[in-house]
Amino acid sequence: MTTKQHVLTYPCRGTRHWMEQVPRPADWITPSTDYWHGAWAILHLRCARCETERHIALDYNGYILADKYDHRPPGYSLKSGEAPAREQVRLWLLEDTRDRKKRRLKSVK
Ligand SMILES: [Zn+2]
Repeated sequence: MTTKQHVLTYPCRGTRHWMEQVPRPADWITPSTDYWHGAWAILHLRCARCETERHIALDYNGYILADKYDHRPPGYSLKSGEAPAREQVRLWLLEDTRDRKKRRLKSVK
């Protein structure tokens, strides 16, 4: 079972990734399906926080034909059924924020 501490290591689980467009990664290999090879363009995105990469195959109208995630942080990926609900992750993030505020207040006294 996934623990609260494990999840808090990767806040993107609860808040979604903060993606920015990046140049094609040096280790990128275009998947061999028609969606990818028939794509009008491929966008490469990387999360500014956890460095997970998302690759998106687009048609000429901007519709997504296919996408692929590469989870870069070790331990980010979870086995099927281990991922907590996003709602639970958000509550854990909130608790963590409150705990940190309490610790700050104690250290000021
Ligand atoms: Zn992220």
